[in-house]
Amino acid sequence: MDYLAPITIEEAVGALASTSDSRVFAGATDLIPQIRSGRPEPGLLVDLKRIDRLTAVTEGDTSWTIGAAAPTSGLTENIAFSRQFPGLSEAAGLIGSDQIQNRSSLGGNLCNASPAADSVPAMIVNGARAIIATPDGTRTITVDQVATAPGHTSLEPGEFIVEFEVDKPPARTGDAYLRMTPRTEMDIAVVGAGARITLDADGNCTEARIALGAVAPTVRRVTDAEAALIGHPITDDTLSAVAAAASAACDPIDDKRGTIAYRKQVAGVLAKRVVKLAAERAAGTATENGAH
Ligand SMILES: Cc1cc2nc3c(=O)[nH]c(=O)nc-3n(C[C@H](O)[C@H](O)[C@H](O)COP(=O)(O)OP(=O)(O)OC[C@H]3O[C@@H](n4cnc5c(N)ncnc54)[C@H](O)[C@@H]3O)c2cc1C
Repeated sequence: MDYLAPITIEEAVGALASTSDSRVFAGATDLIPQIRSGRPEPGLLVDLKRIDRLTAVTEGDTSWTIGAAAPTSGLTENIAFSRQFPGLSEAAGLIGSDQIQNRSSLGGNLCNASPAADSVPAMIVNGARAIIATPDGTRTITVDQVATAPGHTSLEPGEFIVEFEVDKPPARTGDAYLRMTPRTEMDIAVVGAGARITLDADGNCTEARIALGAVAPTVRRVTDAEAALIGHPITDDTLSAVAAAASAACDPIDDKRGTIAYRKQVAGVLAKRVVKLAAERAAGTATENGAH
C-alpha cells in the first residue's frame, strides 16, 4: 500500500486519477479499523489532512465553511460556531472520545456512509452543502445527496469532499441533536435525531426540519412531522403528532442494539424531545444542554 500526503487539491485529484485502486482518508478512525478487520487494502491511500482548505473552519458574513477533513474537536471548541449551531456542535461532540474527535472529520463521518453517523442528521437539518473536488473542477450537492446506502456514496471514483458550507440560521431559529445509545460508554446510536426549528414572534413554527439516523439505510427526513409543526405553536399535541410521524417514517433493522419495535418507539420519543429543545433554543428559553 502506498501513502501520499498532497498539499494541494490539484495534487490530490491527480493522485486519485493515477490509479483506480485508491482511497482518500482524513482521521482514518473508520478506515483503519475497517482495514484491520479484514476489508481489502487500497493500493494508494491519499491523506487529505495536509491540504489547508480541507482542515480550515471559517466564518463568513452569511455562512460557515468547514473543511471536510477538519477534526470535529475544531467545531466543538469553536465558541462562535457552537453558539450558532449548538445541535451540529453537539453531534460532532458525540463522536467517540476526545482522542477520536481530534482525528474524526465531518467528511469521513458522512462518506463512511453509516446510517448511524452522528453528524449527518445535524448537517442535513441545517441544509449543509458538500463541495466536491472532481477531475474537472468542483461541484456542489446537498449533504442528503451524498450517502446512497450503507457504505455507499454518490461520489464518483476520483472525487472527494473538499468542504461543507452551511448558511447562518435566520433569527429565532434553533437546532439540536439527540441520540440514544444502549450504554453510557462509547457506542453508536440506536437512534439519532436532529431538528432545526424557526419560530415567529408569536411562537408559531414557520420552518421545521427533522432528520433521523440509524432507523433506515440512510438518514431520513421526516416531512410529515415537519408539516405537523408548520403554522402551529409547539404544544403537547403538535409534539405527539411529531412522535407519531417519526415512528411511522422509520424502516429500521433488528440488531444487537435494538429491535425494530424498540427503534420505532425510541425514534418517536427522541424526535419529540429534539424538536422541543430546538424550539426552546429558537425562543431563547433553553436551560440545558441536550447532549447525551
Ligand atoms: C472508538 C470509536 C468510536 C466511534 N464513535 C462514533 C460515534 O459515536 N458516532 C459516529 O458517528 N461515529 C463514530 N465513530 C466512527 C468514526 O470516528 C466517525 O465516522 C468519523 O467521523 C470518521 O471520520 P474520519 O476522518 O476518521 O474518517 P476516515 O476513516 O478517514 O474515512 C472514512 C471514510 O470516508 C472516506 N472519506 C474520508 N474523507 C473523505 C472526503 N473528504 N471525501 C470523500 N471521502 C472521504 C474514506 O475514504 C473512508 O471510506 C467511532 C470510531 C471509533 C474508532
